[in-house]
Amino acid sequence: MPVCQNCHQKWSYSKAFKRIMWFNGAMECPHCGEKQYVTKNTRKRSATLSGLISFIVIFSVIILDFSLTGTAIFAALVAIIAIMIMPAGVRLSNNDEPLW
Ligand SMILES: [Zn+2]
Repeated sequence: MPVCQNCHQKWSYSKAFKRIMWFNGAMECPHCGEKQYVTKNTRKRSATLSGLISFIVIFSVIILDFSLTGTAIFAALVAIIAIMIMPAGVRLSNNDEPLW
């Protein structure tokens, strides 16, 4: 789970989840109210993860020969699982780091 870099308190899953859904800009720490930002590494990792997920979905569809409905359901399931896992990997920073 993400840890505030100002007060070193852990954020709850729901708070981290909301943060993931709203990726740009700052979010106030629920404990100390200090603005926190998602680190560059976290953003890079989620971009890599999205790429990997697309690859897995496309690959599975080719290998397993899914129907159009099967593909849609499978892609949705993989996306949901990824979104559920993502908040646990978020790391926070006191400063907004440029992506590149
Ligand atoms: Zn804090």
